[in-house]
Amino acid sequence: MSQERLQKLIANAGVTSRRKAEDLITQGRVRVNGRLITELGQKFTNQDHIEVDGVPIDRDPKVYILFYKPRGVISAVSDDKNRKVVTDFFTDIIDARIYPVGRLDYDTSGLLLLTNDGDLTNHLTHPRNQIEKVYVAKLSGIVQSKDLEALRHGIKLQNRITAPAKTQILSVDRRRQISIVRLTIHEGMNHQVKEMFNKVGYPVVKLKRERVGFLTLQGLNSGDWRFLQHEEVSALK
Ligand code: URA
Repeated sequence: MSQERLQKLIANAGVTSRRKAEDLITQGRVRVNGRLITELGQKFTNQDHIEVDGVPIDRDPKVYILFYKPRGVISAVSDDKNRKVVTDFFTDIIDARIYPVGRLDYDTSGLLLLTNDGDLTNHLTHPRNQIEKVYVAKLSGIVQSKDLEALRHGIKLQNRITAPAKTQILSVDRRRQISIVRLTIHEGMNHQVKEMFNKVGYPVVKLKRERVGFLTLQGLNSGDWRFLQHEEVSALK
């Protein structure tokens, strides 16, 4: 196992910068395997137990990514048919073992979070927490508001009744027989949006997720990503 300078191990765990980690060491605030270390330059491995102010450092720092998933990518960490998966976008950039929070279909684009934080994943995906997911769907047919009434009340899907959804007709194109509709839900059943629109007679031609909670795709193009800011992560929890 390779050895690293103590200040680097502390910085890698996301505690603070390498420079400030040096200060923590010289101030006598760091112990390794129970032994106080105050001199700079000593090297240790990832197996050594490091504490700062009596608190063990986190060897698996959490990573939070907001990704604009393109169409034609699988929301998984691997695929048995060798198709491109969302984590392929981060292989050379991020060491942590991140995975997608929930799923977007292969042919759906839009906002997908990736993380290695299981607690946040559970929080975001549990319907009890009512995190809004907003989709824009291109539908085959001319939609009228009354056609979507059932979705606003809840419909039977996969042996459950969906929670009331919000709907907004954005545009209709009579010549091409196409409508664009925004749908807001806070559940995440498999293929839920497509099945909801199918039930009321409008097959989905194209689907994009534009918002999850307060997070949007603002400033990103398809295939782009950014780290979440600390305040955004705290606000999500
Ligand atoms: N609902 C769907 O039908 N597909 C998605 O990708 C996401 C929600």
